[in-house]
Amino acid sequence: MTDTERPVALVTGGSRGIGRAVVHRLAEAGHDVAFCYQSSREAAELVAKEARERGARVLTRQVDVTDRAAVKAFTGAVEEDLGPVAALVGVAGIVSDRPLVLMRDDDWDSVLRTNLDGTYNVCRAAVFPMLKRKAGAVVTVSSVAGVAGNAGQTNYSASKAGIIGFTKALAKEVGPHGLRANVVAPGFIETDMTAGLRDKVAGQVLERISLGRFGRAGEVADLVAFLVSDRASYVTGQVFRVDGGMAL
Ligand code: NAP
Repeated sequence: MTDTERPVALVTGGSRGIGRAVVHRLAEAGHDVAFCYQSSREAAELVAKEARERGARVLTRQVDVTDRAAVKAFTGAVEEDLGPVAALVGVAGIVSDRPLVLMRDDDWDSVLRTNLDGTYNVCRAAVFPMLKRKAGAVVTVSSVAGVAGNAGQTNYSASKAGIIGFTKALAKEVGPHGLRANVVAPGFIETDMTAGLRDKVAGQVLERISLGRFGRAGEVADLVAFLVSDRASYVTGQVFRVDGGMAL
């Protein structure tokens, strides 16, 4: 990389919500950004345009994070088109909430495959080239549900707790080679994911948040941008809650 080149960030789930805010913040912080999404092509094109307006070169593709081969091909394309990936941020995630006794196998499988396998798939593809270069930072996105468990979300809580274990183990593996890996665990953030829930449970949830309000996607993205930057050069293997002081 020359002095004029921007480091490259790869973000999964960048078309909406927290991922969109991460793409924006990283573009503002001086990264070129590649991101994938599942189906929201128009939204993704808008995010790409917004990131370009912030000075970034951008590559966006429809890539399902559960499709291991597609994730691998995307990672290769990013390295070829934009350059070596310096920051990897796994944001893509879904919910499919039901109490355990009503859980359908598909609720379990789809959430585990997207959230946990998706995180594995992208790290498996992108970390090896980072290791060879002995440089890079990984941030995975868990949830307060993964830290404390949340009723009605056994599948989601398991997937998000899995991401924490995965990332801590990864941090230990890659630390000696100069790479860092950290977890961000958001609380209740205003995005499409929580839109329906916000109206239904707003009262009860807000009572449990010290700051008395839901979080904004940009408030999660700010921490992600810090964690992938050199300002966090001695920070690895940690779980950071961004939850306004939420008690689950
Ligand atoms: P969101 O608004 O629903 O956005 C989800 C993003 O993930 C979209 O870009 C979506 O793409 C992408 N995605 C979903 N499944 C995918 C797949 N199989 N392959 C590729 N991309 C996929 O969600 P959000 O609220 O921003 O949440 C982002 C992350 O933060 C998730 O991991 C979530 O679990 C976590 N989180 C959120 C909250 C919260 O309160 N919002 C709290 C804790 C943790 P499309 O647009 O194409 O569908």
